[in-house]
This record gives sequence, C-alpha cells and structure tokens, in this order.
Amino acid sequence: MTVTDLVSYEDALASYDPVMGLEVHVELGTKTKMFCGCSTELKQDANSQTCPTCLGLPGSLPVVNAIGVESAVKIGLALNCEIAEWCRFARKNYFYPDMPKNFQTSQYDEPIAFNGYLDVQLEDGEIFRVQIERAHMEEDTGKSLHVGGATGRIHGASHSLLDYNRAGIPLIEIVTKPIEGAGTRAPEVAKAYVAELRELIKALGVSEARMEQGQMRCDVNLSLRPHGREEFGTRSETKNVNSLRSVERAARFEIQRHAAVLNSGGTIVQETRHFHEEDGSTTAGRIKDNAEDYRYFPEPDLVPVAPAREWVEELRKGLPELPRVRRNRLREEWGVSEHDMQSMLNAGAIDPIVATIEAGADAASARKWWMGELARNANESGRDLASLPITPEQVARVTALVKEGSLNDKLARQVIEGVLAGEGGPDDVVEKRGLKVVSDEGALSTAVDEAIAANAGIADKIRSGKVAAAGALVGAVMKATRGQADAARVRELILEKLGVTEG
Ligand code: ADP
Ligand code: MG
Ligand code: ZN
Repeated sequence: MTVTDLVSYEDALASYDPVMGLEVHVELGTKTKMFCGCSTELKQDANSQTCPTCLGLPGSLPVVNAIGVESAVKIGLALNCEIAEWCRFARKNYFYPDMPKNFQTSQYDEPIAFNGYLDVQLEDGEIFRVQIERAHMEEDTGKSLHVGGATGRIHGASHSLLDYNRAGIPLIEIVTKPIEGAGTRAPEVAKAYVAELRELIKALGVSEARMEQGQMRCDVNLSLRPHGREEFGTRSETKNVNSLRSVERAARFEIQRHAAVLNSGGTIVQETRHFHEEDGSTTAGRIKDNAEDYRYFPEPDLVPVAPAREWVEELRKGLPELPRVRRNRLREEWGVSEHDMQSMLNAGAIDPIVATIEAGADAASARKWWMGELARNANESGRDLASLPITPEQVARVTALVKEGSLNDKLARQVIEGVLAGEGGPDDVVEKRGLKVVSDEGALSTAVDEAIAANAGIADKIRSGKVAAAGALVGAVMKATRGQADAARVRELILEKLGVTEG
C-alpha cells in the first residue's frame, strides 16, 4: 500500500477506534553486561567485548548483574508497579545468528515488575493514564551487518558479519496494557508516553535513554475496531521506532493504513512492520501469528531473583522527584507556558537547560540557546541535544560573555558554532576567531568618525532631524568592526557626535 492509498486520518477516526500497545526497550547504563563481566562499552573493535558466557560457549555459566536488577526494580517502582517477591529468568528459544546461544535470556510469565501505570501529560495539559502490564529484564542481541546488497538488509546480501559486543547488554522491556480511549489523540498519547518514560529513565539514572543511539526503542502495536465494538481488532507491530516524532508518525500511518484495509473489506494480518523515516510509512516484516512458539522455559543456569522487601522499600524511598512534578515546578520557576514546557520536553532540552542554569546562566538565556541555535543544529545534524558536542557549562559561559557585554547575540552564535565544530571551549573560540565586541570607546569613536566621514549625505540628513537614517550609519560601523561592536552604543555615539537627541 502506498501513502496515497491511505484513508485520511479524520475519516479513519470517524469510523474506527484505535487500540495501541507500546513495548519499549531500554538499554541500561551498567558498566558490565547482564550475565557476564564483559564491558558494555560499544565503541570498540567488533567482538572485542565478548567472553565464553555472552558467546554461549559450552560450559559457561551466567551470573546476574546486581545493578541490572536494581535498575529494573527502580523502573518498576517509578512506574507504580508491584515488585515480584520471587521471579525467574526464562529462555526464549529462537535461531538467529545474532544470538549465539540460540536463545535469549529474558523473563516470560514471571516479570520482576507488573501492574503499574504512568501518567502522561498531553499538549493541552490533560493527564492521560497509561496502564503498564509489566517491566521485565532481558539481554540485547548482537548486531548483524549484511554486506553486498543494495539496502543493507539481508535480502540480496552476499554475506553477513556479526558483532557480539552488544550481545548480553542489559535491557528492560516495558510493556503497556492495551491503551484504549485515546481516540484521535492516540498518536499524541504514544509520543507523550515515550517522552515521559524517557524522562523517567533519565531521572532514575539507569540509562541515558538516547533514542537516536538505540538506547531506547519502541515497538508500536496498533489495531482498529469499529466504534462501539468491545473486541479488539488484529494488531500490527511496527518495530524499533527510534524517535519521538517517529512514534507519533508510525501510529498515525498505521491508523490510516488499517482503515484503508478494513474499508476495502480486507483483513489485517498480524505481522511486524518496518517504519521508514523518509516518508513516515511502514512496510510488512514477518508474519507473527499466535503459532509463533519460542518454547519458553525457566532458565536452569540462573537462580531465581527474590528482591528483599526492605531493599525494595529502601529503593522506593530513594526515588527522585517524578519528571512531571519536576516539570511543573520548573514551569512555575521559569514562568513559561504548558506548551513551551512540552516543546522543551520533546526536544530533550529540560536537563541541559537545568544544568546550564546550575552552571550560572539565567533561565531565559539558557532556554533561548538550547531551544534556538542548539535545537536547530541538533535537528540539522539528526542528533539529540544531549549528544551535541557542547556542554551546559560551555553554554553558560557563552551567556556570561553576552551578559558582561563582550559578545553580542550574533557573535555568541558564532562562538557556539565554533564550539560545535570542535574549535575548543567558548574562550578558545573567541580567542582564535578574534570575536569580541569592540567595547574600547576610543576604537568605537574612531569607527564612528570614519563612518560619518564616508557617508556625509546620510550624516546631514540625521543632523537635520531624520534620526531614522542613523540605522545606515550603525550598519556601516558594524560592517567595519565585523559585527563586533555593541550596536546600541554605536547608535548613541553617532547621535552624540551629530548633535541630535532622540525624542
Ligand atoms: P508480543 O510478544 O507478541 O509483542 P506482547 O504481549 O509483548 O506481545 O506485546 C503486545 C503489546 O500489544 C502489548 O502492549 C499489548 O497491550 C498490546 N496489544 C495486545 N493486543 C492488541 C491489539 N489487539 N491491539 C493493539 N494492541 C494490542
Ligand atoms: Mg512485541
Ligand atoms: Zn561476556
């Protein structure tokens, strides 16, 4: 189905009621893997971070990562879940070369956390409660690189390379109950849920949850049912959607596609689908009917996990302020609207802004740079704000230079550009590029005299009372000083020298 065959979003929602299920995988930020001592540092040579356990060699035995369990409990608590008194790992059996053991160690019918909820705030401030089915522990797979084909997919490739550095990295999978009642706002709810979850994960300090780096990815399950029908329709499952915007677009596209299929009398097949950034469409993956059989069974090599109640209560007491509560507090402190706060949340800007304020900037300047120049740069380079090569301290330094008058906004933008380009910190860039507002009165005065001399006609106009013409002289001075003069001061000097007062 091509994009043009879709039913319009409004028409789809006029006939059908969407039901969604969101499965989010979060890669934990532990130093070592879930069941062995290998480093989780990924920027290493292929297969250098491996050992007999994560390669599944005979005779090797796994040991559970305590920080992994602690992180899972924290996530469960923050999602208002019950924490299992006793649970086990399970083997999910399947053959695919990215999992060298031929099974993935996961949890099945005994998740560590279950029956919770997460309240998410929609753009108009309304709170929507998303019910959580479970959060369970598992491990990531290795990475396959399909070589020789045009698309990078296995189809058409001549051979595949495997890198097991990622195999065994701890993951927490968080699964919602079917989300009903969102109606036309289903895509917005999906995005808001993933955004809120990402903030929560970051606040807990268990992962940096950078979606563009795959540290957090979302499978979007979606089905439609005619208005008034109880029973759910057949769902599709769009896999590994890795940005907030894409989550929203994938849900939207699937609503329109399902409606088109159903309207034409077709049936939806239960299948996985791939999302395409370029046009926001999805295409079929593999058929996934209920006959899919992973032959789950309890993992015999690992002892059960039985978190002591006192420990769980201790972790509960140590939970940080919830992101939504914190956002409301910050919104009041900063005096911004709900909508502005939502934009900052979606841009992942809240933490960088807070850190910039902590480094000495005032709130308005910190917001201005992160949501302006830096957000634009992040967008253009397809990165998120947190991974831009500039620190909150450096942004704070730029705001300090503006405040003390040694940079104006235009120069500050160049300084930021220099920092992002790897030319060093703000002071280095100022130094190397020679970017400083000319505040030396003598130099400014000379520049103004020169501009007046070179533009005698304009100067006469100003003398005769046409103060508006001063702009042209200010422009000439700014040009002569390569934008490095304080424009307001230049204007004052011009009027002073020409003996006019504004009024
Ligand atoms: P699977 O392993 O097949 O992905 P899960 O139970 O892990 O199954 O996840 C399925 C997700 O889809 C859950 O979030 C669930 O709430 C949701 N879901 C189940 N049935 C439907 C349906 N008919 N329509 C939409 N979502 C559904
Ligand atoms: Mg799934
Ligand atoms: Zn290992």
